[in-house]
Amino acid sequence: MANEKEITQRKRTVLVVEDNDMNREILCELLADDYDVLEAENGNVGLEALDKHSGEIALVMLDVYMPECDGFEFLERKRKDPRFDTIPVIMMTASNTADDEIHCLELGASDFITKPYNVEIMKNRMKSVIRLRESSSMLGRLESDSLTGLYSKEFFYHTAEELLRANPDEHYDVVCSDVENFRALNDRYGTAQCDSFLRAIAEDLTERIPGLLFGGRIGADVFAFLLRHHEDSWAGILTPEGDETRYGKFVVKYGIFADVDHALPAAALCDRATLAIKKIKKKFGARVAFYDDEMRDMQLRERQIEENMETALAEGQFVVYYQPKHDLHTDTTGGAEALVRWISPELGFVSPGQFIPLFERNGFITNLDFFIWEEVCKEIQHCVWEGLPVVPVSINASRMDFEVPNLAGEIAALADKYGVDHSLLHVELTESMYTDNPGQIERTLKELHDNGFHIELDDFGSGYSSLTSLNTLTLDVMKVDMSLIRQASATGDFSILRFCSLLADNLRLKTVVEGVETAEQVAALKVLGCDYIQGYYFSKPLPAKEFEEYLTVHSGQESA
Ligand code: C2E
Ligand code: CA
Ligand code: CA
Repeated sequence: MANEKEITQRKRTVLVVEDNDMNREILCELLADDYDVLEAENGNVGLEALDKHSGEIALVMLDVYMPECDGFEFLERKRKDPRFDTIPVIMMTASNTADDEIHCLELGASDFITKPYNVEIMKNRMKSVIRLRESSSMLGRLESDSLTGLYSKEFFYHTAEELLRANPDEHYDVVCSDVENFRALNDRYGTAQCDSFLRAIAEDLTERIPGLLFGGRIGADVFAFLLRHHEDSWAGILTPEGDETRYGKFVVKYGIFADVDHALPAAALCDRATLAIKKIKKKFGARVAFYDDEMRDMQLRERQIEENMETALAEGQFVVYYQPKHDLHTDTTGGAEALVRWISPELGFVSPGQFIPLFERNGFITNLDFFIWEEVCKEIQHCVWEGLPVVPVSINASRMDFEVPNLAGEIAALADKYGVDHSLLHVELTESMYTDNPGQIERTLKELHDNGFHIELDDFGSGYSSLTSLNTLTLDVMKVDMSLIRQASATGDFSILRFCSLLADNLRLKTVVEGVETAEQVAALKVLGCDYIQGYYFSKPLPAKEFEEYLTVHSGQESA
């Protein structure tokens, strides 16, 4: 950071823009002792000089009247480029009319002097304008990120918005970069190494991106760049050949929002570019992604879903479907999984794949899951009262449900309210959620189990933590992910399924294989000694009434 002494002692560069050759020469000579002087004979040449030397120029001395690109036009064009915006200008004119002066100040000039100059007065004015600007930029150091020298987040957003507002007809792109697994790398390699890596990438990108206007650091490992729109191959620019090994273990991914919408806040532009990165997160080899119409539609859809979710819950638009689990030992229906369906008058049929991940992000999932618990309890109570067959029903729990204090007590109270035997309720939890906060999940599961609820580990084999979770969690059932039966059928190799079955046997867990669709799959699973099968081969998820009818035929239980 420049200190007071540096400010007064360092020789600054001044750009003199003046069409009259003699005047210009005299002025340059007068200033040569105190400043490095650049000259321009009209506004156009002056702007070119700014473009080339914007980082060095401390002040512009600008003639008002020139035949080609006059002082007004110069100011107007200078103002549109954020790189030049902070460079102060002193206007020079022979005819000092109040109108001219006001107009120039409106266009961002800092001061005004009249020809012929009083040299002392002029030099003092120059010094004080430079000083003022430099000390205010010292105060405004927050404008830049101290690690990378890029703009700070707020300043980037602010500057980008100003630029877009001032240039409504220009086309711009926003590029964001993100480091894959940055947190883990930070833990592993330490802050110093990660910092120097971040600096290197900021520098690299600043050099490499054509038409770059400025960049900002908008997150610990997220940079954003604003640039003039272009159609060139981005992959070649951002990830040239050999780039994979450029940063060693660090993999950088890029999201691009091309030809941005000027009406959006800058934060939203960056959100869109980073959303594009999400599309290729964990996708090996994919490094560059664009925000496209499909993503925009998805965002709109998500917004609609969020706007409608509370009313939907209040008005009973969420409905529970039941998918039978077939018991291979008795050849009857041995249970069911409760799966939510949303039938919305506004949005039509919305599949859980669309709203569950969103509700998991915004927290609404817990409200929905409690609603499902209650609906299932009501349904079981109804079947008991009507003397219909009854089987255990499993309900999907989400990561956030486990944040509810005394979850086990809450669910037990709900079951008791409807007189439902706890062994008729199973909780399905997916193994990926276990990695977040294992201690708390272990405790809650044990409490649920102690309360008589059965626990099923869902989607087994789809993630990484399976074996650990099997060891530490209180479980009753292993639900084998449907990708495993698919893969076995496709390759004819059932060894992984056989391994799951052996493992479950050893741990005294029952097995459910999901996504079973054909008679051949059923036969193969029977040979492997699997306990239950869930899948379209037996039945799709059914509305409660249809499931009751299905049970009267397939449960092996007599209706009373
Ligand atoms: P999941 O728990 O793994 O549920 C199994 C999914 O596989 C269900 O999709 C089911 O309809 C589908 N399925 C069942 N058999 C077959 C088959 O033979 N072939 C094929 N292709 N698919 C089959 P669904 O109902 O769309 O649910 C998707 C996911 O949404 C569920 O995956 C679960 O994670 C979540 N979900 C559903 N209902 C709830 C809920 O009430 N609460 C929570 N937290 N999550 C839920
Ligand atoms: Ca499930
Ligand atoms: Ca599953």
